[in-house]
Amino acid sequence: MSKNMMSKNKTSGASVSRRGFLRNAVKGSAAAAAAACTTVVAAPPEANALQRPPKPLPPDAVGLLYDSTLCIGCKACVTACKEVNHMPPDVGAAQQGWNAGGGDKPIYDSPVELSAKTLNVIKAYSHGTGATKDAAENGFAFIKRQCLHCADPSCVSVCPVSAMTKDAKTGIVNHDPSACIGCRYCVLSCPFGVPKYDYNDAFGEIKKCQLCKQQLAKNELPGCADVCPTGATLFGRTEDLKAEAKRRTALKVGEYTHYPRGDIAGKVGGPRSGHEKLVEAAYQTHIYGEKELGGTQCLAVSAVPFDKLNLPTNVPENGYPTLSEGIQHTLYAGMIAPATVFAGLAYLAHRNTKNHTDE
Ligand code: SF4
Ligand code: SF4
Ligand code: SF4
Repeated sequence: MSKNMMSKNKTSGASVSRRGFLRNAVKGSAAAAAAACTTVVAAPPEANALQRPPKPLPPDAVGLLYDSTLCIGCKACVTACKEVNHMPPDVGAAQQGWNAGGGDKPIYDSPVELSAKTLNVIKAYSHGTGATKDAAENGFAFIKRQCLHCADPSCVSVCPVSAMTKDAKTGIVNHDPSACIGCRYCVLSCPFGVPKYDYNDAFGEIKKCQLCKQQLAKNELPGCADVCPTGATLFGRTEDLKAEAKRRTALKVGEYTHYPRGDIAGKVGGPRSGHEKLVEAAYQTHIYGEKELGGTQCLAVSAVPFDKLNLPTNVPENGYPTLSEGIQHTLYAGMIAPATVFAGLAYLAHRNTKNHTDE
């Protein structure tokens, strides 16, 4: 046999082996995945063996309660958030010239969406004439958007390098830029569209609210809760905030009630006076974040239904990681995927050895 023919045969033999390996590996993985998926589809939700139990909130988890009926849309919380977190203005480069006020920073910045420069934003809902505050028909309402600090966060579950972590005591979901590889899985996985990546910066980083952990470490309030003049943004233990949310949603129009400001327990940032106010619009009974996707540490109450405020309402009561991690763990628990890859490698090694022996 000529040298050229030998080389051709060897090449074609190895090529077939690689194809065979890939085919076998793909077939094996597909069969394993199909078996797992069949179980998911076939099993009733309550008996779904692949779903791992949801993760509960830590007992001392902290968060925010946002009351849309108290919010006056002043956006002091947006400005304070920028200040205490040293975030740059979001105003576009084209507007910075006339807006610069003689200095190097724009004098007016009013972001409308979360971004890699904005961790907190107040958005407005409006319908018809927009005449009445907190009315779904011919009215308007505000909603605050920032990280909700989920009990069972998708962003933490999908991060391949543990750059996103959940603090075991406070439950705050942190992002570590030094560990982050910029894959942006967290951006894609968050059901609330929170983590943002700066695509205009060659060294862009993931940004999201970390509940002003640097302020809490100094026993100071998160910027947004610190400056809110009406107590629409209130800080506290999530369990205390949940109880306050339940109290408010049970109030009737025309009742006078006390609304605290700052920290609901009056400990962080020192005590400060609240205020008495008439309930002017009927609260929805729905407390946003109480049950959504396993619950969140930041909650919201409102007089306008949350779907009108553009928050996702058609979501399950268990976080997505309960299912995705359940399937992964099931595959790996039986070593199905690694065994498939190993079988393919063994087959390839066997074919190569056989080819050499035949020669
Ligand atoms: S809201 Fe999004 S970014 Fe925040 S903890 Fe939940 S999944 Fe993560
Ligand atoms: S807790 Fe801090 S980072 Fe989060 S929205 Fe409020 S001010 Fe911004
Ligand atoms: S500071 Fe308070 S009242 Fe003002 S926009 Fe923010 S949440 Fe609303």
